[in-house]
Amino acid sequence: MNVNDDSLKSADPDIYDAIQGEREREQNKIVLIASENYVSRAVLEAQGSILTNKYAEGYPGKRYYGGCEYADVVESKAIERAQKLFGADHVNVQPHSGSQANMAAYMSVLKPGDTILGMDLKHGGHLSHGAKVNFSGMIYRDVSYGVDAETGYINYDLVRDLALAHRPRMIVSGASAYSRIIDFGKFYSIAKEVNAFLLADIAHISGLIAAGLHPSPFPYADFVTSSTHKTLRGPRGGMIMCKSALARAVDKCIFPGIQGGPLVHVIAAKAVAFREALTGQFRDYQRAILRNAKRLCDELTKRGYRIISGGTDNHLMLVDLGNKNINGKEAEEALDKAGITVNKNAIPYDNKPSTITSGIRLGTPAVTTRGFTEETMGDVADVIDTVLQNPGDEQNMKVQRQRVKSICERFPIY
Ligand SMILES: *Cc1c(COP(=O)(O)O)cnc(C)c1O
Repeated sequence: MNVNDDSLKSADPDIYDAIQGEREREQNKIVLIASENYVSRAVLEAQGSILTNKYAEGYPGKRYYGGCEYADVVESKAIERAQKLFGADHVNVQPHSGSQANMAAYMSVLKPGDTILGMDLKHGGHLSHGAKVNFSGMIYRDVSYGVDAETGYINYDLVRDLALAHRPRMIVSGASAYSRIIDFGKFYSIAKEVNAFLLADIAHISGLIAAGLHPSPFPYADFVTSSTHKTLRGPRGGMIMCKSALARAVDKCIFPGIQGGPLVHVIAAKAVAFREALTGQFRDYQRAILRNAKRLCDELTKRGYRIISGGTDNHLMLVDLGNKNINGKEAEEALDKAGITVNKNAIPYDNKPSTITSGIRLGTPAVTTRGFTEETMGDVADVIDTVLQNPGDEQNMKVQRQRVKSICERFPIY
């Protein structure tokens, strides 16, 4: 069999059809999932390339396999561009995902049983910041901080109190569902005071940081980890950056510590995305994400929705549905029927289980890539409100689905 003869369509109709279905779904629905985006054709092409055929264990110039001359070019370019983009001393672009990047950062300086102080999952933190069901909570002792019940902002005094009481070896700053600026400087002074390492997990906000629209963790953090597929708009993957003194430890932890061969095709796509992120166009895109998030937030507030912390400084917001007679799960399902994809999300101090929740998380990176403007966000807010007020009204659902369709038609994804 010559594997080069067949297109996917004829070789594997099942998978081909699923991809076609997914293409239509992505085109015909409004994606407000804060962690998703649409990559460029160039990123797709790099990720779908023959580089997937290559084993390249090791690092550029120091590989365990022959024939790595092009893999070396790809990885060196990715590293060089990431360094320029973030001003990082050292970059490792091999982590398969953001969680792997965090694992490597922890393992490079912590021993099992050491204490991590991270943000509570229920207050907007990430699984890999010490959640019991995650490796981070199984291997390390977890202490978590949250947001203030009144203000919805991180309570830095509480972070300091916890740090002084528990003496963590690592403090993790960064979140998955927090709509305010993160003060890495404050985290740094707390970490210094208790002699802990500081990790800044910028998975969600790396695009904003690259564009200079959120303060950078770089003067402060020992480790900076990120996913590459959220606001940064690259392929699904991770990266880890650190000070030079930690470079060897981090590289050894990624390979041979926790990963085998790097995904060279994904690293190529990361390199392409980093190049895009160095442009003025990308900065304009990030500014538009912020404008759209603010508008969506304002329009929902006008309609009586309570936004946690009262607003947003970034690409996302957490909506408390407590006064709207609908829970997070029901809202997610109703909006999906109307063609708007969101995720239910626990709000701080939520009294409902995580499978139900009292809130939804909304973000604007994906719709902004499609070209949605502030005016479009007004229409989107109106559809959301109309659907959530009448979740059982099938006739209304049809009307809203049609509105969503016509918005989507105006903004092709590719
Ligand atoms: C998304 C995210 C990650 C990484 O997630 P992966 O799915 O493993 O790439 C890590 N930390 C935070 C805060 C995140 O939001």
